Amino acid sequence: MRLTRLALSTACAVLAVTGVAAAQDTPLVIRAARLIDGRGRVLQNAAVTVERGRITRVEARSAAPATYDLGTLTLLPGLIDTHAHIIAHFGRDGRASNEGESDAERALHALQNAYDTLLAGFTTVQSIGAPLDKELRAAIERGAPGPRLLTSLESLNDPALSPEELRRRVRTRVAEGADLIKLFASKSIREGGGQTMTDAQIAAVCGEAKALGKRSWVHAHAATAVAAAARGGCWAVTHGFYATRAEFALMAERGVYFEPNIGLLIQNYLRNKPRYFGIGNFDETGFAFMEAAVPVNLAMFKDAVRQPGLKLVMGTDAGAGAHGRNADEVIARVREGGQRPMDAITGVTSLGAESLGLGDRIGTIAAGMEADLIAVDGDPLSDITALSRVLFVMKGGKLYRNETRRR
Ligand SMILES: [Zn+2]
Repeated sequence: MRLTRLALSTACAVLAVTGVAAAQDTPLVIRAARLIDGRGRVLQNAAVTVERGRITRVEARSAAPATYDLGTLTLLPGLIDTHAHIIAHFGRDGRASNEGESDAERALHALQNAYDTLLAGFTTVQSIGAPLDKELRAAIERGAPGPRLLTSLESLNDPALSPEELRRRVRTRVAEGADLIKLFASKSIREGGGQTMTDAQIAAVCGEAKALGKRSWVHAHAATAVAAAARGGCWAVTHGFYATRAEFALMAERGVYFEPNIGLLIQNYLRNKPRYFGIGNFDETGFAFMEAAVPVNLAMFKDAVRQPGLKLVMGTDAGAGAHGRNADEVIARVREGGQRPMDAITGVTSLGAESLGLGDRIGTIAAGMEADLIAVDGDPLSDITALSRVLFVMKGGKLYRNETRRR
C-alpha cells in the first residue's frame, strides 16, 4: 500500500513537471465564455474535455471544474492556412534572397517561422512548397514546436515538358514524400499572370495526382488557366486574380476549392519592398503590376463571395515577413471583402481541413477530433480582429501558449 502510494506520488510529480509540454494522460477541461465549433455552431459557457490528445466531450452551459478557465475568451478550432511558404525568410543580409547563408541558418529560420505561425494560432499549415519542408515536417512530427505541416515539396512549373513527362514528375514528387502536387499554370502576377501550361498539360498533372490519391493545387491568375484547372480535374486553385463569375460558377459546379489572397500577400511585398526589390521579377514593373492588382483582386473576391456553393478556403501564400500574421487574410476578407464572419471562420477551420483531406481529424471542435484548440480575446463574430489576439494555443493536446490564468 505504502509502495503504491509512493509510486503514485512519484508519477504525479513527473506529470506536474512535464504537464505543460506533454500531451496529458489525465483528462483536462478547458472552459470559455464562447465556443465557435468551425462548422457554424456557437456554444455559450462551453467546456471541452481533452484526453490523450483528442477531444472527448463538448458541452454548453457546463459547471464542470476546469483545468483551464479561459474566462471571457472565445474558443475556436486551431486555424488552418492552406498556402504558406514556411521556410521563406529574410536572411543574414536582411533580404529575401538569403545570400551567403548556411544550411543551418536556413533550417533555424524555417523552425522560427513554424513557431511564430503556431503561436499565432495556426496549428496546421500547407506549405507549397520547397524541399526543406520535408525535414521541417519530420522535426515537427518528432515534437519540435510548429504547426502540423503538409508540403508539396518542389512545384511543377516548366511548360516545355510534355504531358507524359509531367506525369512522370508527379510520380517522382509523390515518391519523394509530397503530400500534394503544386502546379504553376500561369505566370506570376508580376509578369501579368497569363496562362503558361496548356489545358492538356494541366489535366495531365491533376489527373496523375488524383490517380495516386494525391491532391493538386494550381497557381492560376488568368481566367483561362482557372477554367482549365477546374475542367482538368484539379483539386484547388490558388490566387485567381483575373477569375470572373464564369470561373467561380465552374469551380462551384466541379467542387474545386478556391484560395484567393487579398489581405497579406501583396501587402507584405509592398511593406517590405526594399527587402524584395531586385530579386527575380521583383523590379519596378513587378511592383507596378502588384499595386495595380490590389483593387482588381479585391473586386474579384467580392464577386467570389457571392457565388453560391463556391468552396472558399483560407490561404495566405505567406512568405518572408508574413509568418505569424496569417490572420490578416481572414480579417481582410471580412472587413474589406464583405465575407460573413462565420463563413470566413469556417474557411479557416473545417473547410480548410476538408481541402487538406483532413476534415475528419481537425478543423472542428467535436468529440473524436484531435485537440487543436485556440482561444482569442474577444468575439470574432462581432470583431474579426479578435483572431489577431490569440492567447491560448493547443495542438494535439499539447499546450504551446497560455497567457490566461491557470487554476
Ligand atoms: Zn505560393
